[in-house]
Amino acid sequence: MTFSGHFIFSISIIIIIKKINLFNNLSKINLIKLIIICILSSSLPDLDHPNSIIGKKFYYISKLFYKFFGHRGFTHSILSIIIFYYILNLLIFFNLYIPKYIIYSLIIGYTSHIIGDMFTYNGVPLLWPCKWKFTIFIFKKKKNKEKKFCFIFFLISIFLYFLKI
Ligand SMILES: [Zn+2]
Repeated sequence: MTFSGHFIFSISIIIIIKKINLFNNLSKINLIKLIIICILSSSLPDLDHPNSIIGKKFYYISKLFYKFFGHRGFTHSILSIIIFYYILNLLIFFNLYIPKYIIYSLIIGYTSHIIGDMFTYNGVPLLWPCKWKFTIFIFKKKKNKEKKFCFIFFLISIFLYFLKI
């Protein structure tokens, strides 16, 4: 999925999660605030690709990740979500208290990226270090299809959000 695809997809996911009240921690937090935090981590898994937008910003870290794990390896797995969650929680030990809603939104943004990549032909190694690739649907490298999908999904999430149920 492209950077803009992940961007829109993460917004749609957080809108739906907020609407269905999946996590109590998020229920009283302003949606715009959640969206902004969610976007911040929505491209983080692509840190394993030195030519990605985030990879270019953190080039040396990105090269290191690429060298050890390759693109769409560890950073696109369930294990990486768990480790990211624990790193965010560990910051408490360094007196860097992060409110739960920020941690949850960052995890949602990160996870939305992995789900988004599952819609692509190559899929993601969810169970890394096992190399099985998981894919839900195939875009076959047609970026227009991906854009349409993300846009329609975004419209659906907005519709659901304002639906009075
Ligand atoms: Zn990716």
